[in-house]
Amino acid sequence: MNVIDSIAGMHSACAQARAAGKKLGFVPTMGALHEGHLSLLRAARERCDVVAASIFVNPTQFAPNEDFAKYPRALERDSELLQFEQVDLLFTPTKEEMYPLGAVTFVEVRDLSDRLCGKSRPGHFRGVATVVNKLFNIVQPDFAFFGQKDAAQSAVIRRMVRDLDLAVNVVVCPIVREADGLAMSSRNAYLSAADRKQAAALSRALRKAESLYRSGERDPKKLIDSARRIFAEQPEVAVEYIEIADPDTLETLRDLSRPALVAVAARVGSTRLIDNIVLP
Ligand code: AMP
Repeated sequence: MNVIDSIAGMHSACAQARAAGKKLGFVPTMGALHEGHLSLLRAARERCDVVAASIFVNPTQFAPNEDFAKYPRALERDSELLQFEQVDLLFTPTKEEMYPLGAVTFVEVRDLSDRLCGKSRPGHFRGVATVVNKLFNIVQPDFAFFGQKDAAQSAVIRRMVRDLDLAVNVVVCPIVREADGLAMSSRNAYLSAADRKQAAALSRALRKAESLYRSGERDPKKLIDSARRIFAEQPEVAVEYIEIADPDTLETLRDLSRPALVAVAARVGSTRLIDNIVLP
């Protein structure tokens, strides 16, 4: 695996792969890798000749009161996992490399960025769209792989790719979960043993809504109420939102006659977790 920390170096390694006629797959991450990330790398390996990954904890997507400083960083272990997954190129830039002094250009995907997590994390999706656009410019992948776990993020990126005519195919891969249903996340490392048990309420609440839907219920409010009842039994879990939205526009849905994203965000202790399912 070729580990590269400069933009120029990554740019030319990727250009070389493309010039050799290789299909280039890209998996951007913030590191502290788990099976969810590895599933994206495997999807890339399956579809592409050369697999590139990046590890960059992107400061512009964190608000000043958020966990940028304490976000888990585990580069050595991550590198071993990536080598094991036969990743060819690993990009590990510093924040100074990605955002040199005087960088004032941002990508704004309007409307979508103010919905779901964007409501409680103003500026978050602007940071995400900006860094992903920069990474796409550096790597110029044929395919880029993202997780359904961050459903709103994938909607923002799909829209950015469409609106800016970026020549990359976005592939969204299913959520990888722990045995009790908890969606894997680097932030799960923050959870105490007691929090960890409570955290399973997110996926349980989603499954409850899903089973009601399967039994024929088509009123979004009833689905949300059923999910909320699960949280009512779990007072340590503070729900930030449960919403049923269009998976592409993230607008709230008033009926369930078309595919619907059921998305939840909640705090368990001081850890903010998200999860979702798509109906049907
Ligand atoms: P992150 O390192 O948290 O920025 O995530 C990097 C990529 O991995 C994003 O596309 C995430 O959606 C994806 N990802 C994170 N957790 C999971 C999971 N449990 N299952 C599938 N993909 C995931």
